Amino acid sequence: MAWVNERILDIVYDIADNISTDPFDVCDFLGVKVEYVPLPGTIKGMRLAIDNSNLTETTILLDANTDTDSLKFICAHELGHCLLHEGISRMFIEKETFNAPGKFELEANLFATYFLLYKKDLNSYSDPYELFSSYGIPNEMIGYIEKIYS
Ligand SMILES: [Zn+2]
Repeated sequence: MAWVNERILDIVYDIADNISTDPFDVCDFLGVKVEYVPLPGTIKGMRLAIDNSNLTETTILLDANTDTDSLKFICAHELGHCLLHEGISRMFIEKETFNAPGKFELEANLFATYFLLYKKDLNSYSDPYELFSSYGIPNEMIGYIEKIYS
């Protein structure tokens, strides 16, 4: 059931080609602030925005106690929300637990996965789970990427 979301892929290519393939660099370029704080429980990241269409007033909070590989994915996931879900004004504060994936969560995960794997040679990895783990990408995203890289 692998499929490709062309709209998300277009945005990923635009960002990766023109800005950076590092989510932290892209946040910096766009004026999105990133801060590291200890977050409670299973929360790995949060996005705070007063006006969701104004990226320079957006802050991504990342859990200071989470490993750096995972934080790269979480940062890319939050960046995906910033770029894909502009104007959706109800998402002022988002707690990331990855436990309740709805449409927006899946889109942000797809963005992060496409973005972090941009121009990576997937054929050079014998074990896709090893590759995913090195980028902090949740294993369940494997089913979504087969087609773009095969
Ligand atoms: Zn999310």
